[in-house]
Amino acid sequence: MNREWLEKDFYKELGISSSASQDDIKKAYRKLARDNHPDKNPGDAKAEERFKAVSEAHAVLSDPAKRKEYDEARRLFASGGFGRGGFSPGGSGAYGPGGFATGEFNLGDIFGGAAAAGGDGGLGDLLGGLFNRGGGARTSSRPRRGSDVETETTLGFREAAQGVTVPLRMTSPSPCTTCHGSGAKPGTSPRVCPHCNGTGVVSRNQGAFGFSEPCDDCRGTGSIIDDPCSDCRGTGIQNRTRTITVRIPPGVRDGQRIRLAGQGEAGLRGAPAGDLFVTVHVSQDKVFGRNGDDLTLVLPVSYTELVLGTTVSVPTLAGRVGVKVPPGTADGRTLRVRGRGVPKRGGGAGDLLVTVKVAVPQKLDDNAVEALRRYAEAEKTSGFDPRAGWAGA
Ligand SMILES: [Zn+2]
Ligand SMILES: [Zn+2]
Repeated sequence: MNREWLEKDFYKELGISSSASQDDIKKAYRKLARDNHPDKNPGDAKAEERFKAVSEAHAVLSDPAKRKEYDEARRLFASGGFGRGGFSPGGSGAYGPGGFATGEFNLGDIFGGAAAAGGDGGLGDLLGGLFNRGGGARTSSRPRRGSDVETETTLGFREAAQGVTVPLRMTSPSPCTTCHGSGAKPGTSPRVCPHCNGTGVVSRNQGAFGFSEPCDDCRGTGSIIDDPCSDCRGTGIQNRTRTITVRIPPGVRDGQRIRLAGQGEAGLRGAPAGDLFVTVHVSQDKVFGRNGDDLTLVLPVSYTELVLGTTVSVPTLAGRVGVKVPPGTADGRTLRVRGRGVPKRGGGAGDLLVTVKVAVPQKLDDNAVEALRRYAEAEKTSGFDPRAGWAGA
């Protein structure tokens, strides 16, 4: 990362010049934040990313002290101060031959003394964990918003149409509850690495140049765990499963992604929680189908029902409804029952569309066959010709 971060152009992000006034910054931010707000662009990942970038830029530039630090850091970076040989705080690799070639180089010195001392504010805080790995004492004190969580669930057709409250099980990494994230067995604690004195890096001199390398003894963490916590095997992190109850609104479609604000990972130290995104899969139903907000079904009927007309009781999402089939209804015709479809967002519901389909008896008793023969004669006499006007006849 780091390099990328320093190359970020917060001014460009807000579409302003580096000499913009605090008022300009505020104005530019307000407009961009409004245009790209997730509530206004549901499901638009691009807008969401933009919103985050704009917020980040604003957080730095709106604070005159931070802005000054940022400007200085960028000036240094642009002038090659960090070197081109690979810049990696407390991590792997040397700082490179370009810049701070002699002796050790403490990033905290550049990114505000306050952060380095474990205090509040300063750009070092914004950089968070990136710059903290090397020196154990430098911990971020800026509350950070919890991360967004993605999950999925499968709903029954009727549940999805009507809305449902479902429990969702989610597994996510969180500090180990046994060792409180230290990675050391309860009752013991990690000790400062004697090889690097807790800095995580060691200096190696080669001629006139000094190189910093990650400490081998502690793998760059600055501390050594003699007795690892058995629950997290010394990582300090555990996958925790939690179950939350989520209200899925009525009318969701198969494959739809729902955003539940504030239901994601909890923020650290009182920061707001992230969002939860649930992708919903909807299973098929034996009776119902869906066409937008309309509910569809196929109603089996007999020929005589279509000819003579009838009223049939059909199921809906909520109870049954009597559907009137008028005399002389053609096979395949769709009858509409208003307001008995899928509930709509913000009230009301779509329609129930009932398509009639003739069921032909495969076997009848003599009595019925005899009656049908007589009927066929009567049909002819009455002048009905099913193929009248058909195929050019
Ligand atoms: Zn543990
Ligand atoms: Zn070490």
